[in-house]
Amino acid sequence: MITTVVFDVGETLVDESRLWRRWADRLGVPAHVLFAVLGAVIERGEHHRRVFEILRPGFDPARIGFPDVFEACDLYPDAALCLHALDRQGLRIGVAGNQPEGIEPALEGLPVDFVASSARWKVEKPSPLFFQKLAEEAQAAPGEIAYVGDRLDNDILPALEAGMIAVFIRRGPWGYLHARRPEIARAHLRIESLGELPEALTVAQAFLPVCVTPPSEPSNTGRNACATRRDLMHRGGDDPADA
Ligand SMILES: [Mg+2]
Repeated sequence: MITTVVFDVGETLVDESRLWRRWADRLGVPAHVLFAVLGAVIERGEHHRRVFEILRPGFDPARIGFPDVFEACDLYPDAALCLHALDRQGLRIGVAGNQPEGIEPALEGLPVDFVASSARWKVEKPSPLFFQKLAEEAQAAPGEIAYVGDRLDNDILPALEAGMIAVFIRRGPWGYLHARRPEIARAHLRIESLGELPEALTVAQAFLPVCVTPPSEPSNTGRNACATRRDLMHRGGDDPADA
């Protein structure tokens, strides 16, 4: 039974556009140039900091302080409604992503039970240690935790490996590109917006307790054992089989 829902931050709860545009201004390039380079970096599976190396060799964003602290205005419009709906469903809610500390002000007034970050834990996704710490913070068994994220590499695959319920949201640059990869079908749920999540989790509660594959028992097919039922819960998005 899912008792806790934990959200990634970038492009899951918040729209990163404002901050990336600020970086384009800082680097002295048009925003569309930065976004094009970001897309190439994502497609190659490289770290997003590679964008800075390409656009300004020798530029170190860490030296001037990476201004990627989100504000309430960056939240996607569906974020607050989703969190309140999950709260009404009696679920515990957490926020944990590869982020610096200090996102709490952006979440003020929202029903969030705990907030953590890679900066606080000193470990980044996709490290298994990140998800181990997440389960400890949530005080829940991995199989009781649904982790929602926009990336196959940093969210879906490591959450599955940790034995959690993996929820893929297809939005943001990673989301649209990773949705084309066949492995995304391994996510327990695939959604297009957070507005779909409360109902999707309600439906999932009926099936997931009997079909989640523990991380210590990988399925023979390499896919999660509940593929058929999961397909019933699919909430749109490109069919990877067509990719
Ligand atoms: Mg993200």
